[in-house]
Amino acid sequence: MRIYKVGGAVRDRLLGKPVTDIDWVVVGATTEEMLAKGFRPVGADFPVFLHPKSGEEYALARTERKSGRGYGGFTFHASPEVSLEEDLIRRDLTINAMAEDDQQNLTDPYHGQRDLEARLLRHVSPAFAEDPLRVLRVARFAARYAALGFTVAPETLELMRQLSESGELEALTPERSWKEISRALMEDQPQVFIEVLRACGALKVLMPEVDALFGVPQPPAHHPEIDTGAHTLSVLQQAALHNQPLTVRWACLLHDLGKGLTPEEEWPRHIAHEFKGLKLIKAVNERFKAPRDCQELAMLVGEYHTHGHRALELKPSTLLELLQSFDVYRRPQRFEEFIAACEMDARGREGLEQRSYPQADYLRGAATAARCVAVQPLLEQGFKGPELGEAIKRERLKALKAYKEAASV
Ligand code: ATP
Ligand code: MG
Repeated sequence: MRIYKVGGAVRDRLLGKPVTDIDWVVVGATTEEMLAKGFRPVGADFPVFLHPKSGEEYALARTERKSGRGYGGFTFHASPEVSLEEDLIRRDLTINAMAEDDQQNLTDPYHGQRDLEARLLRHVSPAFAEDPLRVLRVARFAARYAALGFTVAPETLELMRQLSESGELEALTPERSWKEISRALMEDQPQVFIEVLRACGALKVLMPEVDALFGVPQPPAHHPEIDTGAHTLSVLQQAALHNQPLTVRWACLLHDLGKGLTPEEEWPRHIAHEFKGLKLIKAVNERFKAPRDCQELAMLVGEYHTHGHRALELKPSTLLELLQSFDVYRRPQRFEEFIAACEMDARGREGLEQRSYPQADYLRGAATAARCVAVQPLLEQGFKGPELGEAIKRERLKALKAYKEAASV
């Protein structure tokens, strides 16, 4: 049996990037031989094993053939006769289809090294079209390596376009799609992920609600970039620049979906887009079965981001409603993430990236003021049940009035 490093580990070493997880391929071995060496089998579908000591993944060389729609529609063939070249040709990109032995000798039948130098993301073979997930993977790699100057090869983009038009993307499971989307959003240039999906027509299929924002104008006074799609990309970029977590990035992507619903005669204004967008945000959330914290934050940011921007002008009673909606007493972290998303929204505007956002500290201060209302004295005064709730609210409102007055001197 011969063992090679493959995929990301080879690619990233050649790029001079840190290698985190190593994938191995084993040529000329049977399952029985692997088990005899102490490897532990994983997964029902693939002949993949974990190394008894390192825990790294070792896969038997295999060929793949599409046999139906979706990912279930794949047949795998692993045997000691499958060559390294045959295993590499089923991979997505040439830069991911290189192997290396323990002497660092490179096997590169599909010219991955040439494409690394040319900074091109290029498919290995026409079999690329057999798995629609590769459209998302390529867009994700484009986001990851954009800073190094990588772009998608025109013929690969064309293939991605055909795949997007074929209806195959709809066969992806929410779980597979979300894994790619969430990883792509955590890259340094997540906006490139959306741009590439849009360029090949996949965005229209996966998130038509986001695609619809391109070409929708906003008032130039608040939005020098004018286009709502361009604004959304800038907000996402700001979120990455400020190292925001996935929840915030997801909320940033979806915050303005309501603007895609505005009738053209109302352009460039978008009256009540916050509220109108909620059903779209819900639909996207559910389509990808986004984790609950991502879903919740996206809905709250969608509904309340303009409240965030107008924080300093809000009446104490409105401020209180906002804090109650976020259940800021039990969920302080979520409110922080809301503030962050609002700030990214404010910065994601052409020429305004460096502006200060005093609303952030003001909102934090308001949350603290409301949270400081002590319940104990009210209990001692004999309040209970719904009346206690009302009394707490009254005290919080008082605290917010005092806070607002103090802040405006
Ligand atoms: P990362 O740094 O994100 O881990 P990676 O290239 O190692 O990047 P993995 O998802 O770990 O990506 O997959 C390992 C290798 O398996 C890839 O480099 C690629 O060769 C191959 N591969 C993974 N998923 C697919 C797929 N859907 N279609 C084709 N090849 C794939
Ligand atoms: Mg990997």
